[in-house]
Amino acid sequence: MPDPHSEQGAERRKIIHVDMDAFFAAVEQRDHPELRGQPVIVGGDPAGRGVVATCSYEARRFGIHSAMTAARARSLCPQATFLRPRMEVYRETSRRVMGILRCYTPLVEPLSLDEAFLDVTAATADGILAAQIAREIRARIERETGLTASAGVSYNKLLAKLASDWRKPNGLFVVPPEHGLAFLAPLPVGKLHGVGPATVKKLSSMGIHTVLDLRNASREVLIAQFGKAGFWFYEVARGIDRRPVQPSRQRKSLGTERTFPENLEDAKVMLATLQQMAGQVSARLQALGLAGRTVSIKARFPDFETVTRAHTDAQAIWRAEAITACLPGLLAKAIPADLPVHASVRLLGVTVSGLTSVEVVPADAGQLSLLEEIIDLR
Ligand SMILES: [Mg+2]
Repeated sequence: MPDPHSEQGAERRKIIHVDMDAFFAAVEQRDHPELRGQPVIVGGDPAGRGVVATCSYEARRFGIHSAMTAARARSLCPQATFLRPRMEVYRETSRRVMGILRCYTPLVEPLSLDEAFLDVTAATADGILAAQIAREIRARIERETGLTASAGVSYNKLLAKLASDWRKPNGLFVVPPEHGLAFLAPLPVGKLHGVGPATVKKLSSMGIHTVLDLRNASREVLIAQFGKAGFWFYEVARGIDRRPVQPSRQRKSLGTERTFPENLEDAKVMLATLQQMAGQVSARLQALGLAGRTVSIKARFPDFETVTRAHTDAQAIWRAEAITACLPGLLAKAIPADLPVHASVRLLGVTVSGLTSVEVVPADAGQLSLLEEIIDLR
């Protein structure tokens, strides 16, 4: 069996990315036929400070999108139907979708309730095309849940995900290895996994706007400007992505980390940043139905020395408040007050490990606003 981490093994992989179309809103339109063909917005209260979690394609035509405040959405489209989310129904539907995906391979990595990567390399060994599997999956999802999904097929996660977005909604798009480079070339760099708004801005100031521009930048320049991330940018510009599909039951930890354009020097800012990360980690844990007993933080100092500090709780936690409660103590341990040389950091991270599956309780409004980031902003 080829090693999926080796370049050769990686090039032979067949990856499918399945993404439900406007998931929460589509479930509501399925269950309330009078809402079909209408602008539907699922999220917080438009009279309060709620945000849009998901909106139907009819609502998107009015310029409404996820994470916009519900109040703004209402001003753009007063006739829209606003609904509070029914997380239990979405979770149940998600379980059915993931169940369908697992009929084709055990290598299913859910990213949230409504999307997942599948590695179907083994299933295609006897000549069945990955595109055929994707077609069948889309048909089964529609038949068994009454909802449509889009799918992208390619030789790695990066391209499979871009491909599923290409013909959305209710579309299928295949990027074979020989078309990977040409497919990527004209895309704006912000479409690439790991390239956020701050990086887009910095790349833009370097005259790099498209993936082709990025491909023309030297590895040395990218590493000088972005550190370790520069390696990633160099590779993804060439359609190289070695990340394996990780089934969630094998997942031992879930975390996030960020390298800052400028070192953080204020402990209050560090703590606020860690709290924000805790919220993101909590939302992903919730979306995946996971919880863990150990919370750790990572700090990298300007001299690149890196420390991690961990706290293990008596019970598995996933809520943002529970993770956040550990942060001040961990930060104090990571950055002792008597070590002024370490008073600033270039990277911070938050991870929850020792993961187990849990039946997650319904999200409260605060958690939902983070959950939607994970579910719909990809
Ligand atoms: Mg989706």
